Amino acid sequence: MSNPAEIPQTMQAVICHGPENYTLEEVPVPTPGPGEALVKVDAVGICASDLKCYHGAAKFWGDDSRPAWAETEVIPGHEFAGTVVQLDDLAAEKWKVGVGDRVVSEQIVPCWKCRYCLRGQYWMCGPHDLYGFKRRTPGAMAEYMIYNVDALVHKVPNEIPAHHAAFAEPLSCSLHAVERANIGFDDVVVVAGCGPIGLGMVAGAKSKNPAKVVALDMAPHKLEIAKECGADVVINIAEEDADKIVKDLTDGYGADVYLEGTGHPAAVPQGLKLLRKLGTYVEYGVFRDDVTVDWSIISDDKELDVLGAHLGPHCWPAAIRLIESGALPMDKICTHQLPLAEFQKGLDLVGDGTSSIKVSLIP
Ligand SMILES: [Zn+2]
Ligand SMILES: [Zn+2]
Repeated sequence: MSNPAEIPQTMQAVICHGPENYTLEEVPVPTPGPGEALVKVDAVGICASDLKCYHGAAKFWGDDSRPAWAETEVIPGHEFAGTVVQLDDLAAEKWKVGVGDRVVSEQIVPCWKCRYCLRGQYWMCGPHDLYGFKRRTPGAMAEYMIYNVDALVHKVPNEIPAHHAAFAEPLSCSLHAVERANIGFDDVVVVAGCGPIGLGMVAGAKSKNPAKVVALDMAPHKLEIAKECGADVVINIAEEDADKIVKDLTDGYGADVYLEGTGHPAAVPQGLKLLRKLGTYVEYGVFRDDVTVDWSIISDDKELDVLGAHLGPHCWPAAIRLIESGALPMDKICTHQLPLAEFQKGLDLVGDGTSSIKVSLIP
């Protein structure tokens, strides 16, 4: 399918050579193998994890105690939307897509052979090949990319702006964290952080219809957007006493659920403090350094359920529906769209974090 004559030989791509060594280069357009698709990248979001890789925290570059996130000579970018330009019948049938369709792919490309994959827990796949971090799965900071034969691909309506469609990735992660919390109708749910992940958590938590969704941040404009995403109460933790406000909302008991979406060390003890006894803490944040807390709060004091959350398994269709519904203020969440050549500016905007929420590159 498609006319190969229309596909150029080379393309612009960002290449990661190592920490703080990313360059824009002219590279060959990749050729899809059997069961794969060549996709023209329409938008790619920049994530906090991209920035972390960029700065090359030791843990991710050669510390053997944790699996390396990133390999070198890889094109970064794991949250993206694109248009199919070439695919074979195998891929078309498997993903129910054709040339010209707007498509997103889940960020993890499972091996489909390990214990986790075989049990349906593909997001914890052993080899853990994520687009943009591994050589097997080059990412989206390029004009074209391959949707891998093992990928999970979802069609998105062409009417949705590409940078909104690419938000399906972080949003699916937020929704998975919400699912982990098993929210009840009478719950008071506190969401820490109103960045891309936190705002998605607010929207996801609200859709579970609990008693109250409370959003925390230090930036007034992000708290305003949190209200539009469904927060019933917003607390500026730089100015207000979150503990007192949450206690007042809960007859003095504390929050039922705390969703952590900042990756800031102070958000961890904050959550342990705000939760009631037998409450549920969900950690989605990715931390730069180790975090120290009093673990006795988890056992002796409150008998908390502390749960991790990673990626957005089984939540992509819901994330796409939520974007499609128009319920989210997508234009306010997607604050910056830059050309691919300005990837450095994009990384800096994400690093600064004060003016931006979701920064996207438009190749
Ligand atoms: Zn991401
Ligand atoms: Zn696997």
